[in-house]
Amino acid sequence: MIELKKQVIEYAQKLNSTNLSPLRSGNVSLRVTNDDVEGFLLTPSGKRYETLLPEDIVFLSLKEKYDNLKLFNSSLNPSSEWRFHQDIYLNKPKAKAIVHAHSPHATAVSTHGKSIPAFHYMVALAGGDDIKCAEYATFGTTELSKNIIEALDKRKACLMSNHGQITFGVNLKQAFELAEEVENICHQYIIALKIGKPKILSYAEMQKILDKIKHYKKA
Ligand code: 13P
Ligand code: ZN
Repeated sequence: MIELKKQVIEYAQKLNSTNLSPLRSGNVSLRVTNDDVEGFLLTPSGKRYETLLPEDIVFLSLKEKYDNLKLFNSSLNPSSEWRFHQDIYLNKPKAKAIVHAHSPHATAVSTHGKSIPAFHYMVALAGGDDIKCAEYATFGTTELSKNIIEALDKRKACLMSNHGQITFGVNLKQAFELAEEVENICHQYIIALKIGKPKILSYAEMQKILDKIKHYKKA
């Protein structure tokens, strides 16, 4: 478990070092499944990432809600967003790691509460012909988690209204890279909007792209 905790710390610290999420904002988790364990490792709540130690990383079970369970190996509370991490793992078997960030451009776009249309073919990286924006709800709530699961329908990334972004992947590297891509897409979208109304790629073209991306990734 210690090696997995170190991985969580490495990516939590990358949130800061890559400027994807400053100070204590955002959170990172990693699914853990073996014979006796079914759960995930999650960053603690409100601790600066540069100060994280392996014993700070919290294990949560996928079998029960945090309120009812006894934590082991950590003296800190789990991230206030443990609900959506747990719900994503329960709803998305392919999700092995999750990154949540308050990245500047994704957060700016999220304040408009709208999906990002296919103004660029790279929008397909999130899994569909747009990137959805989860409806606003207070951070850490069941309602926010429900809205996120809706926005992640057939997708592995979404924005969260007036808050930030979430991605998942088969490992932390992939989830983190997707968060960087979403941030870049949002930056480009803001620039595109400054000079007028961008042309949106058709649904048919995006289906072609979605198919092509599958093979591109395998190469
Ligand atoms: P935590 O420190 O509790 O993970 O909160 C950070 C955050 O981004 C809440 O949405
Ligand atoms: Zn947040």
